[in-house]
Amino acid sequence: MTFLLPVLIATLTVTPERRILLPLDYHGVRITGGVLRRQLDQTVEDYLRIPNDDLLLGFRKRAGLPAPGHDLGGWYSDDVFHVFGQILSGLARMHAATGDPACKAKADALFEGWEKCLGTDGYFYYSMRPNAPHYIYDKMVGGLVDLATYGGNKEALVALAKITRWAEKNLDRSNRYAFGQTEWYTLSENLYRAYMVTGDLRYKNFAKVWEYTPYWKQYATGKSIFAKRPDGGQTGSYHAYSHVNNLGGAALAYRVGGERWYLDTIKNAYDFLQSNECFATGGFGPDESLVPKEQLADRLRGTSTTFETQCGTWAVFKLCKNLIALTGDAKYGDWIEKVAFNGIAATIPMSPDGHVFYYSDYNPLGGSKINVDTGWSCCTGTRPMAIADVCDLAYFQAPDGIDVNLFVPSTARLSVGSSHVTMTQETRFPEEPSTTLTLELGQPAEFTLRIREAEWFMGPVTALINGKPMTFQRSGNHWLSTRRRWSNGDKIELKLPMGFRAAPLPGSNSNPTAVEFGPIVMAFRAEDSPVNRVDLSHVGSNFASVAGEPLNYRLSQDPNVLVRPFYEYKSGEPYYLYLDTEAEGRIPYRRFQTDVRWNNSGKFWFRNVPGAWCEATFEGSAIKLLGYLFDDAGRAEVKIDGKVVGVIDQYGPIREVPHDWSFSGLLGGKHTIRITILPDKSEKSKDRYINVAGLKRI
Ligand SMILES: [Zn+2]
Repeated sequence: MTFLLPVLIATLTVTPERRILLPLDYHGVRITGGVLRRQLDQTVEDYLRIPNDDLLLGFRKRAGLPAPGHDLGGWYSDDVFHVFGQILSGLARMHAATGDPACKAKADALFEGWEKCLGTDGYFYYSMRPNAPHYIYDKMVGGLVDLATYGGNKEALVALAKITRWAEKNLDRSNRYAFGQTEWYTLSENLYRAYMVTGDLRYKNFAKVWEYTPYWKQYATGKSIFAKRPDGGQTGSYHAYSHVNNLGGAALAYRVGGERWYLDTIKNAYDFLQSNECFATGGFGPDESLVPKEQLADRLRGTSTTFETQCGTWAVFKLCKNLIALTGDAKYGDWIEKVAFNGIAATIPMSPDGHVFYYSDYNPLGGSKINVDTGWSCCTGTRPMAIADVCDLAYFQAPDGIDVNLFVPSTARLSVGSSHVTMTQETRFPEEPSTTLTLELGQPAEFTLRIREAEWFMGPVTALINGKPMTFQRSGNHWLSTRRRWSNGDKIELKLPMGFRAAPLPGSNSNPTAVEFGPIVMAFRAEDSPVNRVDLSHVGSNFASVAGEPLNYRLSQDPNVLVRPFYEYKSGEPYYLYLDTEAEGRIPYRRFQTDVRWNNSGKFWFRNVPGAWCEATFEGSAIKLLGYLFDDAGRAEVKIDGKVVGVIDQYGPIREVPHDWSFSGLLGGKHTIRITILPDKSEKSKDRYINVAGLKRI
């Protein structure tokens, strides 16, 4: 009886539909080409390749069962923000997005292996020492709900009931926020989803326990999240991804209960995050932190870990999908499009041993794409989910027709009234500013067709139907719409008005600034920051297109500088994404070669071994070597072009005080500077550390 119960209850569930537009929930839709489809295919391949025995190793050991396979290492083996539940979600969603039976078979096999390891009390973790029990339970709930929803595995709901029994008894309910801790405040969303799938009130009641009311109320009442709360508390910075992710809980609380303030929470959160936290790419959270916008420029300049890309994209997708559905407004699709192309599409492939592109680097001193040192981080959990979810973001079903949110090569099968419609979208967007929609219908049918009026449109959209001009009306909620009686084979050709724009930070109208073409953020490949070679007041006038290479340009003032989409950059290829006058003439420390790998503070290289060196090349007659004084610093010899030109002493009685050393009188042209740590040091210093924060031409 218990086996059948969840399925039985599901038929009794009555949650009134509060959504105005319905996502297709992966049914009848496929992404058929382009950069996002390539990402999906690569990710399916990568995740199918992970051995099941390796993924199940710790669960089996903990349960005392035979455990063949190898330790995956990293966060997986250490049970840190464990991703097993998200891998189930990802496989179930990739199955729904592609129809690939291997994804479902693997998800089912993993589930079966894991389920055998459940304790009699419902204990379900990888080890006896999960570092973040709430977080891991949340991802497991999501995985089991997704396995039931997208993989048709109803036994997952039986296991869900068991692990929830353990969680109800054992999870700490003190609900205090602390950066990097257990993230109890993200639990509501998946538990409300569990309630909607099963109809079992225990999930609804448990979801309520984890609602993040103090944070959500700040948004709902139109306040800054950094302002003092009614309870007297105040938070100066928040963990970024989880504070967008948890808004899914407010969205689901609204869908389940209908209280208006939940909807206000997510609507106002969108507006707040857009106007305070978002970079041009749609990314947010430098050093994984939401901070007051006045601090954003400094944080951008001070870090290389600018956006937690995979997790952040996933959180934005969910928030904006809910917002489009619940409000009927297409403006929320703009953020989806930005993180689709500049976030998830701009990632490099995961390595077979679970090293993934965790952070995007937007530092104005230049960046390059690398996978994170830590294996099996949180972002290996969200990667397959986010990439699969693009499939569910392209189209929405309206009561009176079909809404097109994303310009991606795709097909969608929908019902409008009694008609079945297959829409095929053919496009090379964003490489070409156009898309073509073709309709297949059994018989002519009248309905409304809408396309998202993107915020980056630089003029009216022009459209042809079967080769003849047609018009779309602006609807007031960011859709362009047309209603008519459609016939089989109708073809709509749309020209999307794309152009270059400068994109400064929120609340700023200049420096630092990124450059966009439509929703696509461009990055510059150059020796040093090209900021002084770009006229940002006439941004479109700077670029000459490269023949035969769509979206590739050269700077008119310096044809050596290549300008192309951030998503095109490969692993290790250097670029400049934000242009910043403070970066002019700067050579970042990361461009210094070192004898062996020096320690990286995020702001400078540092090391304390006499004889260790680092060096860089520069052009010009005078330079400033940038660094900091420390109470444990030593001395270093400075050579330029092989000749000793001075000794620097970085000892200071306090720590991390900026300290520059200048040298001038060189002939123009290219020079090499080498800094070598000396055995000698100030008597007052506790050690011999030398740091190098970069060079500035003067
Ligand atoms: Zn992550």
